[in-house]
Amino acid sequence: MYEFAVTPAVTQLRRQGVIITEITPGSLGEELELRPGDRIVKVNGRTVRDYLDFRFQTAGETELSLRVKKANGETLEIEFDREEGEDFGLGFEQIVPRQCANECLFCFCKGNPEDARPSLFVRDEDIRLSFLYGNYTTLSSITEDEMNRVIEQRLSPQYVSVHATDLKTRAYLLGVDEKRADISGKIERLLAAGIEIHAQVVLCPEINDGPVLEKTLRDLASHYPKVVSTAIVPVALTRYNTDERLTRVTPEFCRRTIREVERLQKEFRRTLGVTFAFLGDEIYIRAGAEIPSRRHYGNYPQIEDGVGMIRSFVNSFEKLLKKRPADKRAEAVGIARKFFADARTHPAASVPAEPAVRRNPARGERRAAELNGTILTGEMFAPTLGEQIARFNEVHGSRLRVVAVRNEYFGGDVSVAGLLSGSDLMRVRDEVEGDFVMIPPSVIKSDEPVLIDGMQFAELEHAYPVPIIAEDLVEFLSRTI
Ligand code: SF4
Repeated sequence: MYEFAVTPAVTQLRRQGVIITEITPGSLGEELELRPGDRIVKVNGRTVRDYLDFRFQTAGETELSLRVKKANGETLEIEFDREEGEDFGLGFEQIVPRQCANECLFCFCKGNPEDARPSLFVRDEDIRLSFLYGNYTTLSSITEDEMNRVIEQRLSPQYVSVHATDLKTRAYLLGVDEKRADISGKIERLLAAGIEIHAQVVLCPEINDGPVLEKTLRDLASHYPKVVSTAIVPVALTRYNTDERLTRVTPEFCRRTIREVERLQKEFRRTLGVTFAFLGDEIYIRAGAEIPSRRHYGNYPQIEDGVGMIRSFVNSFEKLLKKRPADKRAEAVGIARKFFADARTHPAASVPAEPAVRRNPARGERRAAELNGTILTGEMFAPTLGEQIARFNEVHGSRLRVVAVRNEYFGGDVSVAGLLSGSDLMRVRDEVEGDFVMIPPSVIKSDEPVLIDGMQFAELEHAYPVPIIAEDLVEFLSRTI
């Protein structure tokens, strides 16, 4: 689930308007003498609730009036014309998410350790974040205003956690009554208004699998192409999920699910022309089954939900392995190569938080043959990554190794790389060989150099004997060829 920059105080009273946080020098915003801290409360007489409203209400308008509350309390009415398509050059505060009103059996919040960073306890259920970032909502408590907003502002696609179209099952999973669980009318209304939906099923053994899953997929597929795709991801229980109503996902369960869903996928490909229902990568890995081909995933409609990530990675890696060494002339025109040995003294290594996340504090360039380092990843991805890295070593003579890091912070079934904590990464520092270590960039919060357990990235850096690189592996390796 996407994690955004918020404090957990999601119930705070919201003031009207949206606060400007940044102004691009030389922009229209600067010309209008707007300042960070100013709050835009109305555009052309219409109330602004957030930056999506601002975007929507200014889109295509060339004659504008803004009501602005200055930081000193003064209120200004600014009237002006702008060129068609002229950008305001304004940055805005983040959207404060609306909280969900469910009590899902498998809610990730119940699986968090107590000391996890506060933003992990935010139970968002927000159609704006669904549109912007692909966060799933259940639509179970969406208000009439929100429905209207989705339709009026065309906040499409929406990502919807359906889980089951069988009402009893859905209500049970969401911990709400059947009336609230019933979103069939809402879905129909959104689809009729031309809003596309990507659906999700969090698969819980013995609850919404088997015939319930088949019914869900068939019901959703009957709305294709307006319901564009469905992701089926296994419930991931940490060691803190102790609810006896939940059953852990086993390899045998995954194999059975693949068999059952493959039959439907074939049918959908025949009748709809697309796979439509996609199983999460984790299901294939845990089953010990082969990851489907590139064609299976189409344009990877649910890749952010861990569906097709491995296929996409392996295909990118194939291309990387075919890449020819850079033209020597490129060196002559001055491609600078800095080496990892410089990393500790490089100015970038000591600048704290601007930009907030230093994706690659030890950024540098070297040839593939000179690479001698360790790549840390989660247990789920380690075998796939290990195979690809062995091929890279063979082709380029590099000395890269992959270390699978067990997730002891969450424990249970959690084995994805993105949920590795600072303490997990600390634990394996003696297993690191070579002169650098790579970690998945997703383990660092997107807007702050902090890990999932609240550990500062700088603390990790200090504890490691070699520089830490947190950037996309394929991009990184690509620069060394
Ligand atoms: S919708 Fe369910 S899983 Fe999501 S935050 Fe709410 S209770 Fe948790």
